[in-house]
Amino acid sequence: ADSVTLDPWGSSTVSDYKKLFDQFGIGTFDEIIEEVPTPHYLMRRGVIFGHRDYRDVATAMRNDDPFAVLSGFMPTGDPHIGHKLVFDEIIWHQQQGGDAYGLIADLEAHSARGLSWDEIDEHARNYILSLLALGFDPEEGNLYRQSTNREVQDLAFELGIEANFSELGAIYDFDGETDVSHMQSVITQMADILYPQVDGPKPTVIPVGPDQDPHVRLARDLAARVQYFGVTEAYASFETGPKEHALVAEAHETLSDRHPDETVRCVDAANHLEGKRESGATDDAATTLDSTVTMLREAGKEPLRPRVRIVDRNATEEAFEALIEAIDSEKRVYDAHIDTFDLTHEEATELAREVAIDHGGYGFRAPTSIYHRFMTGLTGGKMSSSVPASHISLLDDPEDGYDKVKSATTGGRSTAEEQREKGGKADECPVYELYAYLLSGDDDEFATEVYEECVGGERLCGGCKEEAAELMQEFLEEHQEKREEWEAKLDDLDIDFDS
Ligand code: SF4
Repeated sequence: ADSVTLDPWGSSTVSDYKKLFDQFGIGTFDEIIEEVPTPHYLMRRGVIFGHRDYRDVATAMRNDDPFAVLSGFMPTGDPHIGHKLVFDEIIWHQQQGGDAYGLIADLEAHSARGLSWDEIDEHARNYILSLLALGFDPEEGNLYRQSTNREVQDLAFELGIEANFSELGAIYDFDGETDVSHMQSVITQMADILYPQVDGPKPTVIPVGPDQDPHVRLARDLAARVQYFGVTEAYASFETGPKEHALVAEAHETLSDRHPDETVRCVDAANHLEGKRESGATDDAATTLDSTVTMLREAGKEPLRPRVRIVDRNATEEAFEALIEAIDSEKRVYDAHIDTFDLTHEEATELAREVAIDHGGYGFRAPTSIYHRFMTGLTGGKMSSSVPASHISLLDDPEDGYDKVKSATTGGRSTAEEQREKGGKADECPVYELYAYLLSGDDDEFATEVYEECVGGERLCGGCKEEAAELMQEFLEEHQEKREEWEAKLDDLDIDFDS
């Protein structure tokens, strides 16, 4: 298959994104939407098009169980209508009963983008004001800056123990010149993603654009690594230490008690590969591991950092295949689940979590994610913060907003006559996107009407843009009024804007 890079800025069609699903294992949102009690309009209209494990959150929502939503904003400029999608996603999850977190990624802006602290303070304030103006409830939710959140910093430090330079290098293209603070900001971002779970595991969703998926994958991976071990997944890695050995030994006991007829055996790859066998790895087990590594090499996979998890009497052909598949799909995580007990994967994971928490671990659930399409720039191409005409800032003078919509490119035909005859190309029209993503709000009928009138040739671009421009102007006026109201109340909120 063609390789798809996670930089879909240039492409806005769902079919392009679909390739991305196949390669990275993101699910289509369609497959899950029925499980969401009252889907948001961005879900209903396919703007939110993909997910990783969102079922976990949808289930919690249906059962009135706790869940959380978190997303971060890098304060490098003014918030614009593209960011509004994420604001809306956070706010909606909060309204559905979730614990909501909005964070300002100031460390990242400072280290990766080189913004001064003064600039960051100003932008941070603007992001928070827009989030509040759009409906975020600060009494119920959490707003914070990375740099002043001590718990996040502590968690980042813990997670840093589980990540290493070569791994970050591979994901983020770091090299010998990359500064240490940049790496620190990446690990802080991982801590942000897991932060909603520091007081106890709960389903968490991170609404992001698809370009952010590598962060999500790394966070999911780290969440598993700080778990110490699973039950169907006894943990073995190059990095295990005495603590893990003790936990693995205990897992053996637990399992042996529960399944007296099974011979439980755990292979500790670290010990085996380093020639140390104190943790009770048997020769058979060692042989199993040897064959695993050989199979991997034969399949052209280099087990550079194998985390082989095996609880099995005899690792089978299928297990090897599962392992290879895991490598193919995740690239960096080399693990295989070999279920030899009558536990479902969920039950086993739940059990593992309980044991991990009993031992002072976090018991994190893998964070889940939803992915939204990027908005097309008003001038065509991608919407970019650095090209003012391509986007509408939430701080734009409402009249400028009006003008920008009026000068936007459209999916219209060259003449009115042709438009009446063939219809407009709403699917390629940035103005239609404005209707679908923002201007129609919750009103599906209105969005559908615009679409149908456009493709049916009843709608001409001049009038259509005029209507959109007026709606945009109204939206900005109203939004900015609400921002002002919040501005007056901002000091009463416990948010730290001065670095
Ligand atoms: Fe776009 Fe409206 Fe023209 Fe259709 S009629 S192409 S939606 S501007």
